[in-house]
Amino acid sequence: MAEPHSHTLPSYLDSSHPGPWGIYLQQVDRVAPYLGNLSRWIETLKRPKRILIVDVPIQLDNGTVAHFEGYRVQHNNSRGPGKGGVRYHQDVTLSEVMALSAWMSVKSAAVNLPFGGAKGGIRIDPRQHSMAEIERITRRYTSEIHDIIGPNKDIPAPDVNTNGQIMAWMMDTYSMNEGGTTTGVVTGKPVSLGGSLGRIEATGRGVYVVACEAARESGIDIKGARIAIQGFGNVGGTAARLFNEAGAHVVAVYDHTGIVYNSRGLNVPALVEHVKSTGGVAGAADTETLSVNDFWSLKTDILIPAALEGQITRDNADLIHTRILVEGANGPTTPEADDIISAKGTIIVPDVVANAGGVTVSYFEWVQDFSSFFWTEQEINHRLEAMMRAAYSGMSAVARQHGVSLRTAAFIVACSRILEARQVRGLYP
Ligand code: GLU
Repeated sequence: MAEPHSHTLPSYLDSSHPGPWGIYLQQVDRVAPYLGNLSRWIETLKRPKRILIVDVPIQLDNGTVAHFEGYRVQHNNSRGPGKGGVRYHQDVTLSEVMALSAWMSVKSAAVNLPFGGAKGGIRIDPRQHSMAEIERITRRYTSEIHDIIGPNKDIPAPDVNTNGQIMAWMMDTYSMNEGGTTTGVVTGKPVSLGGSLGRIEATGRGVYVVACEAARESGIDIKGARIAIQGFGNVGGTAARLFNEAGAHVVAVYDHTGIVYNSRGLNVPALVEHVKSTGGVAGAADTETLSVNDFWSLKTDILIPAALEGQITRDNADLIHTRILVEGANGPTTPEADDIISAKGTIIVPDVVANAGGVTVSYFEWVQDFSSFFWTEQEINHRLEAMMRAAYSGMSAVARQHGVSLRTAAFIVACSRILEARQVRGLYP
């Protein structure tokens, strides 16, 4: 029988491609030897199922017309509809969105959610635009990708610089075009519109839960543990609050405005208030500032990069001295940095499990929208914690069984699930 794939890849899919997509392909190559007979389908993982690039023109408040480039990439839908956020950022590229869509496939499968992976983005600096302009961008982008999204096809959600209000505009635009209110087309919506309780904090809560699991396995007491966090948005901010409540010392926080440090532990509730009123951590009371290199050099029990990808590279990996690194962001550690840090004995809890709390509660939201029956916050947090713990212990068991890193183990679990579904579905036609 002929092999089910050809080995000639279009140039933009090449593994020599620098940037996030090239990194993802290297990660897939590392798991190939562990996939047994399923490895004959591995090419499936190296090619996104569908890539859509759209022009998004809008009228600016000053009356001129501006064009932005938007993307929606559906990496895989073998196990269910595509799932993944939409990011608004001035540096968004197709390579980035492709990698993020693939990491969503791996993430959904690693946590055993019945979803595939997708991701969207618009190359725009949202800070340069009014709310009215962001609304017009969002509505036009949603119309442009309308044909390929839907509750059974592909379900967008918030990501970097997008939020519940943007999801409400996406849901409204989709519903107006469909001619019927369709709450399940996006997740991360406001609670007044079929959103789920606990969704906003879900990613940070998941980071906290898996960090506690990793700490327990390493014999580290969370009470008194020293923690440094890069990013103080939805993910880093929530994780900081939960660690603080558990008696850990969040000693340093690094965001887009600067780095704050207090060796006895930052006053996290005061820092949250400071960020609310000033827009960033810089200048918070009772803190010292640190240089970027000093931040990465801090001796900590747990380090949490919870900002953007590509933050820990071969240039700063040598500086890092932490017992556990928990990837709150997607793709914060390059493969070279991963090798350098792992060689020191640091446990790296990979993004595809560490930050899966968000998509897990997105799944709960989607289920609640379908059944029009809503759960309590307590039920949601309880189910989230159970699913995160199960994902962590499944990954950890596979890591021990094969003597591999947690990242490779998470990819083994996830890629096996995806390719198993791929195989039993078979090729059409
Ligand atoms: N953007 C989040 C992530 O990267 C959530 C995606 C979702 O809820 O679909 O996991």
